[in-house]
Amino acid sequence: MSMLQAVPARERTPGDRTHVVVLGGGYAGQLAAQALAVRTDARITLVNDGDRFTQRIRLHELAAGGAPAAPRLTDLLAGTGVTFTDDRAEALDPSRRRVLLRDGGALGYDQLVLALGSRADPTALPGPVHDVSTASGAERLRARLAGRRRTVAVVGGGLTGLELVTELAEAGHATTLVTAEELGADLSPRGARHVRAVCERLGVTVLDGRRAAAAHDGGLTLADGTEVAAEVVVGTVGFAVPDLARRAGLAVDDHGRVRVDPTLRSTSHPDVLAVGDASAATRPDGQPLRMACATGLPQAQQVARTVASVLAGTTPAPLRFRYALRCVSLGRRDGLVQFVHADDSPRDVVVTGRLAAAVKEAIVVNALRVQRHPRIPTSA
Ligand SMILES: Cc1cc2nc3c(=O)[nH]c(=O)nc-3n(C[C@H](O)[C@H](O)[C@H](O)COP(=O)(O)OP(=O)(O)OC[C@H]3O[C@@H](n4cnc5c(N)ncnc54)[C@H](O)[C@@H]3O)c2cc1C
Repeated sequence: MSMLQAVPARERTPGDRTHVVVLGGGYAGQLAAQALAVRTDARITLVNDGDRFTQRIRLHELAAGGAPAAPRLTDLLAGTGVTFTDDRAEALDPSRRRVLLRDGGALGYDQLVLALGSRADPTALPGPVHDVSTASGAERLRARLAGRRRTVAVVGGGLTGLELVTELAEAGHATTLVTAEELGADLSPRGARHVRAVCERLGVTVLDGRRAAAAHDGGLTLADGTEVAAEVVVGTVGFAVPDLARRAGLAVDDHGRVRVDPTLRSTSHPDVLAVGDASAATRPDGQPLRMACATGLPQAQQVARTVASVLAGTTPAPLRFRYALRCVSLGRRDGLVQFVHADDSPRDVVVTGRLAAAVKEAIVVNALRVQRHPRIPTSA
């Protein structure tokens, strides 16, 4: 529960320090709070629903029986001056610059950073479907799979689906991957060939170019009527963002993500900034950034620069971001590093095998390390 007193912004006295509230203590929000502490003398409060930092990019490992660390946010924030409150934001009141919390309190702010992440979209695939989009979802799947070899159908051939299905296959489960696109459609031909070869080696049955229509207790029904028998179905298609911003009247895109300018300030409410999966941030050419740590971490550092500029009365510089590579784990001993152009389209350059697995592991370790060291550069 919250240990904070509610401090409505309008009750502040002129001598008070600017209060920046960050909602969401995941990859983008925790780093934003840390970077704000380094770059500004503002009073900073981080609100998260739980005192654990979830390494979301390791949740497929958790589901398959691994035990990724989940450090306490209070430990990550020790010595930074950031106040942590373990509570859930229920609603925003932008006209009065307040966040309404689950414990009944209200938290006033001068600048608000929304970093609420995303969750599996429950409407994406009807029926009994597991997911690995949250720690609790991955724990439930882990419990379901524990103790014996299961038949598992993973729906979705994006990076999360690939990482999950190979991890589960390597853990000994009988896996099927169902994907509407051709396997590796957004990779280079070499990258796609490697992914297919690893699936074959691990015994993953690949049904690509096939659309899943619904899950049921015995498995999956595909759009063409084919039945796929499975004890467990896991969906990795479709992610939804919390509806706080939409409900509060902020400008959002069709997915509910906050529309932001190039400095990551809301286009409708400039004292609100948005980062990570919940932000509709774009590259300078207008291309939407994909939901990823790779895009969320640079956004978090940008938010600190923007707020520092605003407080100093200068014009904030825009986010500069270019894609460099996509890294996929394919079990613990294989992987794919797909080099990409600045716009994320694949180049014909890949690294595969154990070296790629090591590169991916180093990137995942660094994504946690930067949470304690917010000055480490996070983009090319
Ligand atoms: C299995 C898996 C593997 C992935 N692998 C990769 C990868 O290899 N590379 C990559 O770049 N990306 C990867 N991703 C995507 C990446 O995890 C997300 O893009 C990233 O976590 C987004 O960061 P975020 O801070 O926006 O959200 P999150 O990390 O989800 O954090 C959001 C935080 O907000 C909290 N929160 C939500 N609502 C509230 C509320 N109302 N009140 C208070 N707190 C709230 C949540 O509890 C959470 O702590 C992967 C995702 C999954 C699921």
